[in-house]
Amino acid sequence: MPATATRDSRSILVSKEKPSYGATEQRLGDGRSDLMPEVTKMKALACRECRKEYPTEALHVCELCFGPLEVKYNYDDIKGRISRDSIQNGPKSLWRYKELLPVASRPTIGLHAGMTPLVHAKNLGAFLGLDELYIKNDCVNHPTLSFKDRVVAVALTRARELGYETAACASTGNLANSVAAHAAQAGMQCYVFIPSDLEAAKVLGNLIFRPKVVEIEGNYDDVNRLCSEIAGERRWAFVNVNIRPYYAEGSKTLAFEVVEQLGWHAPDQVVVPMASGSLLTKIWKGLHELHTVGILQNVQTKVNGAQAEGCSPIATAFKHGRDFFQPVKPNTIAKSLAIGNPADGYYALKTAAESGGSMESVTDDEVREGIKLLARTEGIFAETAGGVTIGVLQKLVKQGAIRKQDVTVAYVTGNGLKTQEAVVDSVGRPFRIPPSLVKFEQMFGQQGAA
Ligand SMILES: *Cc1c(COP(=O)(O)O)cnc(C)c1O
Repeated sequence: MPATATRDSRSILVSKEKPSYGATEQRLGDGRSDLMPEVTKMKALACRECRKEYPTEALHVCELCFGPLEVKYNYDDIKGRISRDSIQNGPKSLWRYKELLPVASRPTIGLHAGMTPLVHAKNLGAFLGLDELYIKNDCVNHPTLSFKDRVVAVALTRARELGYETAACASTGNLANSVAAHAAQAGMQCYVFIPSDLEAAKVLGNLIFRPKVVEIEGNYDDVNRLCSEIAGERRWAFVNVNIRPYYAEGSKTLAFEVVEQLGWHAPDQVVVPMASGSLLTKIWKGLHELHTVGILQNVQTKVNGAQAEGCSPIATAFKHGRDFFQPVKPNTIAKSLAIGNPADGYYALKTAAESGGSMESVTDDEVREGIKLLARTEGIFAETAGGVTIGVLQKLVKQGAIRKQDVTVAYVTGNGLKTQEAVVDSVGRPFRIPPSLVKFEQMFGQQGAA
């Protein structure tokens, strides 16, 4: 495949994109028409450091100071177009929050992502001593059973708008699964890049969708570095590299949904697993956006970050009171969170501190215990990242950082069937008997040994 110069492709994009910014009729997912010109929604991409603004194209770093770019919106315009009612009348997916998502036209990819259950976890709450514990259960997200279905729905819808035909990503596992599935459905070419030590179900969960799966002999940080280089050569939509500003916005829907599901209240505490740290920062951004557009009265949510001890650059920095982190070489069963040099680590530290929240890390044994505790109390089988969240939740309760009456939301972001290796040796074995009633009674009868 020929390498395309990014400069050229960018100028093509600008001309291609213009028509969609006119005052053309837009149709929402539920069939209502919306005659407002979309140009008013997204204002620009802005550098998070020096605030320099760029057009809303496939750009991700500031050319002045190399800071990351972020989508900036015209909240005054959005305010007039969004309300609790308009959201509740929207589609039963994350697209009900379309006004606060960075897409210009009608969503085309990932139409069923989001709106996962918020479970009042009374059993786990009683065990931990919490009256109002909720699990946001993204183990059952559509179509690939993790939170990544949110960010991919937004990133690839935007990538399509920008004229891309090939989807790609650097992944710790779940992202690759989601990009591969969405690309298959959308008829896009697809390349996914993963470290070579992933769980079997996450590898198979790519191959089944027939993308080009490229295993890199190295860890995620090696994968990511290579993908940045490839992104400079090929005109591909790397969802978490050149499309990253749009991708990251999809995470806000985990804040929006929780607020709506709590009856339009912000939680007192959230516990969020961190890989790059992006999800944590966007939950905070989402909560404040709801306040800015007048949907939420006030936000006093404490945002707490969770990592595995074997890869805890952000949590370790936080516990040492630093606002910068030291990159590490990951060594943990929580592979989906194993990013040693987290792109949003610095902003995650700032967010937790600003919100009055905290950060903690747990050992691999505590990750396993967390998975099993959630399963036996709430009937939810989470992957290792979920074990990290539950383990850290338990620690924060013990430390008194989360109190009995706090409305607390623990984000459980991926499905346990994808990381069976983590617990297969610690869940026991089935009882095994011949097909005989006598044998059954011997094992499970009144005087039996069961
Ligand atoms: C990717 C991922 C996260 C968080 O990722 P960030 O890079 O911090 O946004 C959390 N849980 C699971 C299961 C993931 O796959």
